[in-house]
Amino acid sequence: MTPARVLVLGGTGEARRLAGALAGRLGWEVVSSLAGRVRDPVLPPGSIRIGGFGGADGLARWLGEHPVHAVVDATHPFAARITESAVAATAARGVPLLILRRPGWRARAGDVWHRVPDLAAAAAAVPALGRRIFLSTGRGGLAAFADHDDRWFLVRAVEQPGPPLPRRMHLVLDRGPFTRDGELALLREHRIDVLVTKDSGGEMTAAKLDAARALAIPVVMVDRPPAPAAPTVVTVTDALRWLERRRATPEGSPAR
Ligand code: NAP
Repeated sequence: MTPARVLVLGGTGEARRLAGALAGRLGWEVVSSLAGRVRDPVLPPGSIRIGGFGGADGLARWLGEHPVHAVVDATHPFAARITESAVAATAARGVPLLILRRPGWRARAGDVWHRVPDLAAAAAAVPALGRRIFLSTGRGGLAAFADHDDRWFLVRAVEQPGPPLPRRMHLVLDRGPFTRDGELALLREHRIDVLVTKDSGGEMTAAKLDAARALAIPVVMVDRPPAPAAPTVVTVTDALRWLERRRATPEGSPAR
């Protein structure tokens, strides 16, 4: 049987786990695509390509040159542009698309969350909530806070962020997973009184929410962009099942 190739749009733990599962599964081949934003990425098993495709047209071209059985978009829930490209390019090529997206976080008893639609709304909300703000939004989310000169920011990112940046800020370069004890120590050390986060979901970075709850620190929670109009699963196991099912159906053969 010819192996069925899957393009996994990656950059998340789920994408790496899916690539690992496909690479070790008889009858499947995987190509993972990374944006190339991180200098020292954790690489998934299987083939890898790195860098943007050049928008939806570029991805459609790539799919024309590299026939695949299906595309799985396992990018970060806030990576909206690549997801938009995936929806358009797979529709143009007639290639099945699956979205693998972990669920968002749910508030628990004791949480004080302020849900906001985007980073601009988060920046508008923080001055009323505190003076020392932990921004765990990733380096792409800092510009919205750059003109808050009367507030102090703790910024945590995987890589050095570029301008515009808040004037009064302390940078911690670190990559998850994080522990509750570590997050408690960080919040206490920097006397944080408000946490800003995107609703990324998942276990890797959830400890900050446990720590904020324990210290009664309010959280500004940025909602996800609208969900794409495509079949969606929340676990790697469900993604594998979907792929196997599609393969078993007559119309599930590779598109060209
Ligand atoms: P984005 O705004 O949706 O993407 C911007 C551009 O980067 C896309 O238009 C595409 O360029 C390229 N790109 C993004 N993901 C790609 C991939 N997997 N393979 C090839 N090209 C890709 O996304 P982003 O917020 O910059 O995130 C970039 C990557 O980092 C994603 O893979 C995402 O999973 C990961 N990530 C993002 C976050 C976050 O908070 N946004 C957090 C953790 C990890 P072209 O238009 O040229 O194709």
